[in-house]
Amino acid sequence: MTTRLGKTSGSVSAPIVIVGGGFGGLTTALELARQPDHPPLLVIDPAERFVFAPLLYEVLSGELPAWTVAPRFDALLPGRGIGWLQDRVTSIDHAGRTLTTAGGQRLTWQRLVLACGAEDHDHAVPGVREHALAFRTLDDALHLRRRVDGLRESPRPLQRLAVAGAGPTGVELACKLADLLAGRAVIELLEAGPEALAGCRAFNRDRALETLARRDVRLRCGTRVRRVTAEGVDLEWQSDGQTMGESLPVDVLVWTAGSRPRPSGLADGTDPRGRLVCSATLEVEGHPGVFALGDGASVPHDPELPSSAQVAMQQGQQLAANLRRSLAGEPLEPFQWNDLGEMLSLGVGEASVTGLGLTLAGPAAQTLRRLTYLTRLPGPLPLLAAAGWLADHGPRPSR
Ligand SMILES: Cc1cc2nc3c(=O)[nH]c(=O)nc-3n(C[C@H](O)[C@H](O)[C@H](O)COP(=O)(O)OP(=O)(O)OC[C@H]3O[C@@H](n4cnc5c(N)ncnc54)[C@H](O)[C@@H]3O)c2cc1C
Repeated sequence: MTTRLGKTSGSVSAPIVIVGGGFGGLTTALELARQPDHPPLLVIDPAERFVFAPLLYEVLSGELPAWTVAPRFDALLPGRGIGWLQDRVTSIDHAGRTLTTAGGQRLTWQRLVLACGAEDHDHAVPGVREHALAFRTLDDALHLRRRVDGLRESPRPLQRLAVAGAGPTGVELACKLADLLAGRAVIELLEAGPEALAGCRAFNRDRALETLARRDVRLRCGTRVRRVTAEGVDLEWQSDGQTMGESLPVDVLVWTAGSRPRPSGLADGTDPRGRLVCSATLEVEGHPGVFALGDGASVPHDPELPSSAQVAMQQGQQLAANLRRSLAGEPLEPFQWNDLGEMLSLGVGEASVTGLGLTLAGPAAQTLRRLTYLTRLPGPLPLLAAAGWLADHGPRPSR
């Protein structure tokens, strides 16, 4: 366990404790720390790295080095007035304003932020946990890279790689994998719903479907994964009112077919999806002084807010302002989402971008996407990362 408490100002008071140092939690902490007289701040997270998930595809393909995309907390936070405890929060005493960690620490807080994010959801499909790969952390990306290298370096006839879930993560992954494998394996993209990228902007969806077709990715919509084994997947679909099935041999299966809020059990009151029910000011209903944001928070909004880094970061900025107001005894203000658009990575060196009146596809869109993300990395990294990438235009993977 590592603890580093940041510098405090003025009288010694209990810290604002931020549980989870992902997009929402880290943005809140960094935003609060910008004010010279901020209260003591403590981020608690069991992970040793912040992961900029939208750029994990570039780590997989070797277009970006891991350090830009997943900086260590002990490199990000020192000198910023933010303490970091590498631990997992296991319970909260709301009346006593204390929390307990897996490492046995008992800490007092004056305001609490719950930002625990989401985890993969296997929808109770047998075998997913045992046989499928995830794509959420740096280790996941590096592990998948090793499996892809194995398929590339010692190809066998009829190699097959399947991606379950044709949402943005599944589609972006399938495009990158197609470029990396360059025909050395058949790529199947399996989607239970009627279409890929349901809910995405029409321009991006059309570009993505073209890209999948150009790269010979086999997209099967309306196809449900029923079981995963060490040898492959059992599939099921409806045809003319009849249930059809097939056992498809696969060498590698990546599961991107669902996520759900991490069941933290840290506060009562969740919506049907398991997210903490908050007011528009991001305060958890029934828990004064406790706030939530990001993938684990249900915030009133019409239409429903997407689970995205963009939302979590904007909420982090708003929450920092509301925490200051709360400490000053001022009224809190509601969160307003400013939709900045949608960007999809579509293979090595290509992307599609829709937003702020702009639609763009191809290499120029990829340059825009990468620079947009690199300059949003937290802490001192944006300039270093963007400068490094601009200097060499990103190493291309060998085929
Ligand atoms: C591969 C991939 C690609 C994506 N691409 C995009 C994209 O292009 N654009 C976009 O907007 N969004 C994208 N997303 C979604 C985006 O990453 C999430 O919406 C965002 O991370 C949510 O932020 P968060 O703060 O709620 O949670 P997270 O960023 O997941 O952070 C949660 C943190 O909480 C910590 N934690 C969990 N439980 C505890 C506990 N009990 N105690 C202490 N700490 C705990 C975790 O270790 C983690 O660090 C992508 C996601 C993935 C997986």
